[in-house]
Amino acid sequence: MVHNETSTGVENPIEEVGKILKDFDALYVVDTVSSLGGADVQVDDFGIDICVTGSQKCLAAPPGMAAITLNDDAWEVVDKTESKTYYLNLKKYRKSGSKAVPETPYTPSVSLMYAMNEALKIIMEEGLEARIKRHEQAAKATVNGVKAIGLELFANEEASSSTVTAVNMPEGMTDKNFRGTMRNKYRIELAGGQDHLKGNVFRIGHMGNITHREIISTIAAIEMSLKEFGYEVELGTGVAAVHESYMPGNNSLEFF
Ligand SMILES: *Cc1c(COP(=O)(O)O)cnc(C)c1O
Repeated sequence: MVHNETSTGVENPIEEVGKILKDFDALYVVDTVSSLGGADVQVDDFGIDICVTGSQKCLAAPPGMAAITLNDDAWEVVDKTESKTYYLNLKKYRKSGSKAVPETPYTPSVSLMYAMNEALKIIMEEGLEARIKRHEQAAKATVNGVKAIGLELFANEEASSSTVTAVNMPEGMTDKNFRGTMRNKYRIELAGGQDHLKGNVFRIGHMGNITHREIISTIAAIEMSLKEFGYEVELGTGVAAVHESYMPGNNSLEFF
């Protein structure tokens, strides 16, 4: 199961699914690439047997590394399976990793490990709980901002992700004009839709070490880009909704 469906901005209920899976003889494998470090992932408590993530999303490290955890049930299956891989053979990683001085079986990317170590330190300094809360609040502020402009979310709001918000492209607006203006004029990169959603949705990422500042400028630039192409937007309405979301009472977060 994919925890955070990045292409549609949907967060799947991995805890609930884990409870159901307890009654089945199956391994629970969860992709937390765009959620770990930004949403609640309790690997053992959620009954996850294999959990995978990447360095480049909510962990906010450079791309190029992946992390994987396996519990005893998962290792049992690995041990029973004849490996057809060489470089990605988990048994070799376990063997090298359990030496007195842990190693990797092949030459690792040492510079990336330093970067990952630093990224994890930043996460622990902020505190995991505070970080997850910051992501939830960023999502809420983004959702409130786009709705105040009059845009529609692609997914149901209850299922919407704390790390990326997918928004329906307004009628008549092209991907090239909208995302092009956002990128070239306002220097803000929005993600497009994938496959059949190309041109039909755009996505606002709010994962990693992002703050209210990025969200305010993104929503402001969306307002200006839409207005430039003739959409009826009262400048500042989306931004005001973002500000409101971050005011005391709506948000007990200490500013990051
Ligand atoms: C980004 C992402 C991946 C990995 O894709 P990359 O092309 O390596 O970035 C896998 N799963 C999910 C859910 C993702 O968001």
